[in-house]
Amino acid sequence: MSAPAYEVYAIKYAHHERTASQNFLGGDPHDGPMPMDYFVWLVRGAGLEFVVDTGFNAATAARRQRQLLRPVDRALALMSVAAAEVRDVVITHLHYDHVGSFDLFPAATFHLQDLEMQYATGRHMGREALRQAFEVEDVVGMVRNVYAGRVRFHAGDAGLFPGVSLHHVGGHTMGLQVVRVATRRGWVVLASDASHYYANMAEGRPFPIVYNVGDMMDGWRRVLELADSPDHVIPGHDPLVLERYPAPSRGLEGIAVRLD
Ligand SMILES: [Zn+2]
Repeated sequence: MSAPAYEVYAIKYAHHERTASQNFLGGDPHDGPMPMDYFVWLVRGAGLEFVVDTGFNAATAARRQRQLLRPVDRALALMSVAAAEVRDVVITHLHYDHVGSFDLFPAATFHLQDLEMQYATGRHMGREALRQAFEVEDVVGMVRNVYAGRVRFHAGDAGLFPGVSLHHVGGHTMGLQVVRVATRRGWVVLASDASHYYANMAEGRPFPIVYNVGDMMDGWRRVLELADSPDHVIPGHDPLVLERYPAPSRGLEGIAVRLD
């Protein structure tokens, strides 16, 4: 059986100037600028097209002082994708920067891990340190989508399409999942916040927003098992992604890169 070879894109929609000490548990002794980029990912091929994560909206960007460069529907339109017509959206986890613009996808089924909904609606959300990256309205909105029959839950590892699978890794949140995609260069893993930056995973230094540090570190091993090489793992927020991969066209330089 030969799996289809999908095209995979990272599309940047927002940015945040911050320092290294904000990106590593316990800080960073050589503190300095270490900005964060925010992405959604597009996978297409074999007559399929789906999106991974939905990004946040302008109101949340203003409240959290993040720089929204382009609303996610406009970002996708640059790739000739109409957000309103997308049929499947994988939600890696329910943090505001990954699910906040779900309303831009009225035709979509959302793919989510059981444990993520449990986490976002359970006992730990009574604790500021664990709920800080969740927005209650996003979570309530996804609960409404459950009642509307628009959420497809997965538990652990799950095949989504031929050559596309979801894998629960937890760590950063209880139910974080990563996406493994067959491409012309082999298995690419969209790690999302299993590793925010290349450095978190490569240097064994966890990101400070974390539910379970041990699970996060096991997650690094898991994504390496799933990918064809460390270069096939795509971190969730690293500006280096835009430097390491080519733009699909001149007009998209600094905005989108092709990962396959
Ligand atoms: Zn994130």
